[in-house]
Amino acid sequence: MKRIGSLFRTLFLTELLIGLSVTLRNFFRRKITLNYPDEKTPQSPRFRGLHALRRYPNGQERCIACKLCEAVCPALAITIESDVGPDNTRRTTRYDIDLFKCIYCGFCEEACPVDAIVETRIHEYHMENRGENIMTKDKLLAIGERYEATIAADKAADARYR
Ligand code: SF4
Ligand code: SF4
Repeated sequence: MKRIGSLFRTLFLTELLIGLSVTLRNFFRRKITLNYPDEKTPQSPRFRGLHALRRYPNGQERCIACKLCEAVCPALAITIESDVGPDNTRRTTRYDIDLFKCIYCGFCEEACPVDAIVETRIHEYHMENRGENIMTKDKLLAIGERYEATIAADKAADARYR
C-alpha cells in the first residue's frame, strides 16, 4: 500500500504541487523582508550600537571618571585612567573601549550616573586596520558631538519608562 502511495505521489508530482501552493499563497501576502541597505527596519530608541561620550550643552564633558562603567562591564572592555583637571574636577585622561571585547550589553550606559557613556543607533561600521577596534576618548567624544541630537531625543523618549 505504501508503495502505491509513493508511486501515486511520484506520478502526479503531488509534493511539487504542495510546495508550489505554499509559494502561491505567500506570493500575494505582505512582504516582511526588506531590501537592505536601501530599506531599513525601524530602530528602538534603546538600540545598542556604537558607543559615544556626551558633553553638556556648555561643552563640558559629562563624564566624571567615577569608573562605574568600567567596573560593571562584564567583558572588561573599558579602560579608564583619570586625574584632577585644572578646574579641580576629576576627569578621564584615558577612556578606551575595545570593540572586539564589547558584547553591547548596555550595562555601561545603565550604570552611568550622568548619562555620559551611551550606545548610539550606529551599527554600520567596520575596521580596516589593526588597532581601530579601540575607541579612544577623542573618537567617542566626536561621535557624541555629531549625534547629540539623536542621542538626546532617544534618551527623552525612553525617560518615561525609567
Ligand atoms: S556595552 Fe557592555 S560589554 Fe560593551 S563596553 Fe558597555 S558594559 Fe562593556
Ligand atoms: S562614563 Fe559615566 S560611569 Fe563611566 S566613568 Fe564616566 S561618569 Fe562614570
